[in-house]
Amino acid sequence: MDPLHTVLEADVLIDADGRIAALSAPGDNPPAERSIDASGQVIVPGLIQAHIHTCQTLFRGLAEDRPLLAWLRERIWPLEAAHDPDSLRASARLSIAELLLGGTTAILDMGTVHHTDALFETAVETGIRYTGGKALMDAGDGVPPGLFEPTALALRDSDELANKWHERENGRLRYAYSPRFVLTATYDLLRSVSARARANHMLVHTHASEQREETDLVRQRFGVSNIQLLANLGLADTNACFAHCVWPEPEEFEVLASGGASVVHCPSCNLKLGSGVAPIADYPEHGADVALGADGAASNNRLDGWEELRLAGLLGKYRGGPTALPAVDVFEFATIGGARALGLDVDIGSIEVGKSADLAILNLRRPHALGPDDVYTQLVYSARAGDVRHVFVCGKAVVSDGVLVAFDEADALADADRQRSLLLQRVQLT
Ligand SMILES: [Zn+2]
Repeated sequence: MDPLHTVLEADVLIDADGRIAALSAPGDNPPAERSIDASGQVIVPGLIQAHIHTCQTLFRGLAEDRPLLAWLRERIWPLEAAHDPDSLRASARLSIAELLLGGTTAILDMGTVHHTDALFETAVETGIRYTGGKALMDAGDGVPPGLFEPTALALRDSDELANKWHERENGRLRYAYSPRFVLTATYDLLRSVSARARANHMLVHTHASEQREETDLVRQRFGVSNIQLLANLGLADTNACFAHCVWPEPEEFEVLASGGASVVHCPSCNLKLGSGVAPIADYPEHGADVALGADGAASNNRLDGWEELRLAGLLGKYRGGPTALPAVDVFEFATIGGARALGLDVDIGSIEVGKSADLAILNLRRPHALGPDDVYTQLVYSARAGDVRHVFVCGKAVVSDGVLVAFDEADALADADRQRSLLLQRVQLT
């Protein structure tokens, strides 16, 4: 699949640098050091999820049946505050095991406030393409002392992490400044982040307009709507990713269209927290990019890109009628749309000679997927994570024949069990 959505029957040749060297008629490539017979299977760009919280995967099932602000204050923040580097590493490994097995090759991850090195170290070890950063929380009601940080300290720590990790591993790792959301940030922090993003061409990652209670509070407190406020502080025309955007004001579509910010659609999480159905088809119509993300296992409860694709399609039609959001457009959200959101579209998001070989191979000759459908319809509405057979990041195999080869899955599961028990001993939940 190339940017023109062409479906080719072709061999994909990957060079020693992990880049796509050629797309050629089957059998026409020179002999390769290693080859995979993918006859009858579908090769796609690896999925890109532009809003994930790997730090929350250990909390799966621990934060049920709450609206956003209670979900944060009663469960997520106390649990995040109880993380130590070992539990955070276990949470990230469990997340990345699920992501790679399901064909997600790149993520934008919001860390917690502390121990961010553990996330980047895990990304180094596991081979995923990782953009992430520590969550910034220098204000707000109900923020536990373990997560609150004075503005200067939060920024200094971010700068140090950015210096240490940005563009490491040949660019596979990148840093993103990550103010959690407007209600836990000062103007000073948001302005400073905006200035850094502008000066250093770096990504900003935040949440916006997820629930009504949140947007009402923002308007009450600041006298302006949420996305407009981010724009006033200079963030809408940086390379920013705004997760959710379920409740935009009518004029905010134009605000987003005029800048560089992307909307990250998180349909499962929006349904599970009762947030609503985002008007996602309206953003591209106004010129704003859309990406997809599973958000976190504490609000989803999976990190399955295929599930997000299917739901994005279904909800698009629920909102806009049966002709809204054709499958090819939905598939773009999780591939080239995600790449644009991350500022990586020169390198990933489509299968083109010269791009990095971040690829997934699916077997769709299965009872739930077989059909003479348009392949994009198959991918969006029929494919499942379990159909993924092989996955490559930067040309390196991370999943082979449906088995995780980048690291040991059984070890990741056992470590997650162990670290989850230890973490729960460190936290008092109400
Ligand atoms: Zn989130």
